[in-house]
Amino acid sequence: MGRELQFSRLVIAAYRLPFRFINYKSGYRAVQSTGGLVSAMLALSESFRNTEGSLSDNKIVWAGVTDSLPEDFNSGKIENEYFNIKPVFLPHKLNELYYGGFCNDLLWPLFHYFPSYSVFNKEYFSAYEEANHRFCEQMIKNILPGDFIWIHDYQLMMLPDMIRKHHPDATIGFFLHIPFPSFELFRLLPRHWRESLVGGMLGADLIGFHTNDYAQNFIKSVKRTLGYECKQNLIYTPHKVVKADVFPIGIDYDKFHSASLNKNVVGEKRKIKALLSDQKLIFSVDRLDYSKGLLHRLKGFETFLERYPQWRTKTVFNMVVVPSRDNIEKYREMKKEIESTVGRINGRFSTLSWRPIVYQYRSLSFNELVALYDISDVGLITPLRDGMNLVAKEYIASQNENRGVLILSEMAGAAAELTEALVINPADDIEVADSIFLALEMNRKEKNARIERMQKRISSYNVFTWARDFFDQTYDTIEGQRQMRVRILTRDISSLILQEFRLSSRRMLFLDYDGTLVSFARYPEQAVIDKHTLGIIQKLAEDDSTEVVIISGRTKDFLERQFGATRVTLVAEHGYFIREPYGSWLSSDNSETSWKRAVMPILTEYVSRCNGTFIEEKSGCLAWHYRNADVDFAQLRLNELRDDLSEMIRHKADLEILEGHKVLEIKSNKYNKAMVAMNLIEKGNYDFLLAAGDDKADEMLFRRLPMTAHTIRVGFMPSVARYSVPDIPHLVHFLKRLTE
Ligand code: UDP
Repeated sequence: MGRELQFSRLVIAAYRLPFRFINYKSGYRAVQSTGGLVSAMLALSESFRNTEGSLSDNKIVWAGVTDSLPEDFNSGKIENEYFNIKPVFLPHKLNELYYGGFCNDLLWPLFHYFPSYSVFNKEYFSAYEEANHRFCEQMIKNILPGDFIWIHDYQLMMLPDMIRKHHPDATIGFFLHIPFPSFELFRLLPRHWRESLVGGMLGADLIGFHTNDYAQNFIKSVKRTLGYECKQNLIYTPHKVVKADVFPIGIDYDKFHSASLNKNVVGEKRKIKALLSDQKLIFSVDRLDYSKGLLHRLKGFETFLERYPQWRTKTVFNMVVVPSRDNIEKYREMKKEIESTVGRINGRFSTLSWRPIVYQYRSLSFNELVALYDISDVGLITPLRDGMNLVAKEYIASQNENRGVLILSEMAGAAAELTEALVINPADDIEVADSIFLALEMNRKEKNARIERMQKRISSYNVFTWARDFFDQTYDTIEGQRQMRVRILTRDISSLILQEFRLSSRRMLFLDYDGTLVSFARYPEQAVIDKHTLGIIQKLAEDDSTEVVIISGRTKDFLERQFGATRVTLVAEHGYFIREPYGSWLSSDNSETSWKRAVMPILTEYVSRCNGTFIEEKSGCLAWHYRNADVDFAQLRLNELRDDLSEMIRHKADLEILEGHKVLEIKSNKYNKAMVAMNLIEKGNYDFLLAAGDDKADEMLFRRLPMTAHTIRVGFMPSVARYSVPDIPHLVHFLKRLTE
C-alpha cells in the first residue's frame, strides 16, 4: 500500500450519518456517533489533513438519513471539522416501509439465513426504490469530477447504478457490510427485485465484501440473475468490467490495544477482579438480534455446566446484550425468551454464593467494554450468522496480558481471518460446551501464541489499511476498464474505418454468425437472422468490390436457408464446407469421420449427466451445447468432458476440441476459420480487410489476419481484436454505416 490517494474528495453514502441530532432545550445540536465506519473515516480525514494538495482542504461529504432532524432545521451548514453532512430526508411513513420494511424485515433476515422471518411486500420494494432515488438526488447535487463515491451497505444497493446513469464516468465503490447469501436464498426474491439489487450494485466499479464466500455468492447471483460472463472475480457487464473483491473490514487496532493500559480502564479491571475473586470470566457482548445466536449460546453454556460439573462455581458467564430494535415485536419476544432462559439456567445451577450467568441488558461505555475484553478468560462470540463481527476483533486487539481465548462461530465473517480462535458451530451445543472447557484448560503458552498470531493479522490489516486497499483496488479496476476502453469502437474510430473502406477498391468482410449478427437462442435453429440485419448484409454484398463472407460453425443447410439468396460467400462448420456466392458447396476436408462413432457415446453420457444439454451432429463435427443448463453445474461437467475427450483424442493427431459460446465442439484440425479465411484472402488483392466475431474460434482468425485488418470483438471480453463493441446492435449499426 502507501500509494498516493488519487481523489481530491471522498463522498460517502450510508444510511446512518456520522452525527446524531439531539434536541436540547437550546435547539438541535449535532453529536458525533461512534462505530467502525465513522472512526475509520475520522482517521482517514485526519490523514487527509496531513497530505499535500486539495485533499487536505476537503472535508468528507456524507449523505445519510436523519431521524431526528426536522425538515425545517435551518442553522446553515451542517458540518463539523471532519464531515460535511448532506441529510436525506425521508418522511416517517416512507422510512418505515423502506428501512423498517424492505431493509430490516426482508433483506436483513434473508441475507442472514433466516428466510422464514422475511416479509415480502410490494410496498416495501417501492419504498426501497424511492429512498434510493432520494439518496441519488442528494448525491448528484453534490458530486464533483474527481470525487471518490463510496456507497455503503444493504440499504443502498440500488444507488450505484442510479448515480452511474447521471455520472457515467464517476468513480464509485460499493461495500456490503452484511453477508451476501447463497443464490438459493437470494432467488427467493421476486425476479425484478433480484435484478434491481444486483444490477444496482453493478453500477459501481468495485464491489467489496468481507469474505470470499460472500463475493462468490454474489458472482453466482450475477450469473444466474443477469447472465453476465464472469471470469474469476471480474464481471463483464455490457458497459464495463466490474470487480467483486474481498476486503475484510478491520478495526482501529491501536485504539483498543492501548486503551486497556489507560488508567480508567485499569480502574475498571480492578473493580471487576474484586467481584470475581478467583472465578474465571466468560464474556459476550452483542446487539439484541436473532442473528447473534444468543439462545443457542445459552444452551451451549448450559451444556457446559452439565458436562463439566467440576467447573461449576468456578466460572461466571457475563452476557451483555446491547438494546436494539426492541420496539419490534419479534425482538421483544426474543428478549423475553433470553431472560427466561437465563432465569431457568441460573435457577437450575445457582448456589447461595454463586450465580452462573450475569445477564445485563444495556450498553457499555468504551472503558467498561475494553476492561471486560481484556480481563475475561474466554470471549464467547457465537453468532448464527454475522457479516464480519467486530467484537471478535476488538476482543483480540484488547488483549494485553494475552490470557483470553476466543471462541468464535464459523458463521461469522471474522472466522476467515481469526483462524487461531477455537472455531465452532454455534448450533452445536456440545461443541460449544467442549470448547469452553478447552479454553479454560488451555495453557498460557498456547493462549499467547494464538493471540499473538491473530493480533499480528488485525494490527496490520486494520480499518485504515482496509479503506486504503479498497480505494487502491477501485483505481486498479478503473485502470483495467480504461485499457479496454482504448479499444472500444467509438464513433470517431468507426468514421476512420469508414473512410478507409470508401477509399479501398477490393474489400473482404468476415462476419461470424451467432453472437455477432444474431443473438443466442435456446436452440440453434431458433436463432435466425432478422430482416434488418439481412438487409444490411445484402446491401454490403451487392457492391462488386466487397466480398462478404459469413464464416460460422453452423451447418451448410442452415446457412443456405438464411443467406441462400444473398451474394455472399458462406463458410459452414468452421470451414468444413465453402460456397462461393450462388455456387455449390465444396468440402475442404475429405478425411473420414468414423471418430464420431467413438465420441458420440461420450457426449450422450454427458447429456444424461447434465440436464439441459444437447448434442448437435454436423457433417464434420459434433457439438455439445450447454447454454440451457445450470451455469455452474455445466461448467463442472464441461471440465470433466474436456478431460475425457482430451484423453481420448490424445492418440488421434487430427482431432481437436474447439470451445465456443456455451458449446464444446470436436472436429478435425485440418481446417479452421483462420485457414479458410487466409485461403480466401490469397485469391484476391484485397486492400481492406475486416473481421467481426465473438468467441474463441474468431480469436484464431483475428490472430492470423494481417496487422492492417480491422478486427472487432463483440462483447467486452479479453481479446486480441483491435476493437470491441458492447453488443450485436452496436456491430449491426456499424455495418449499416458501411452501407451509407
Ligand atoms: N458496542 C457498542 N456498545 C456497546 C457494546 C459494543 O457500540 O455497549 C460496539 C462494539 O464495540 C462493536 C459494535 O458495537 O464495534 C458491534 O459490531 P459487530 O460487528 O460485532 O456487530 P453489529 O452490531 O454490527 O452486528
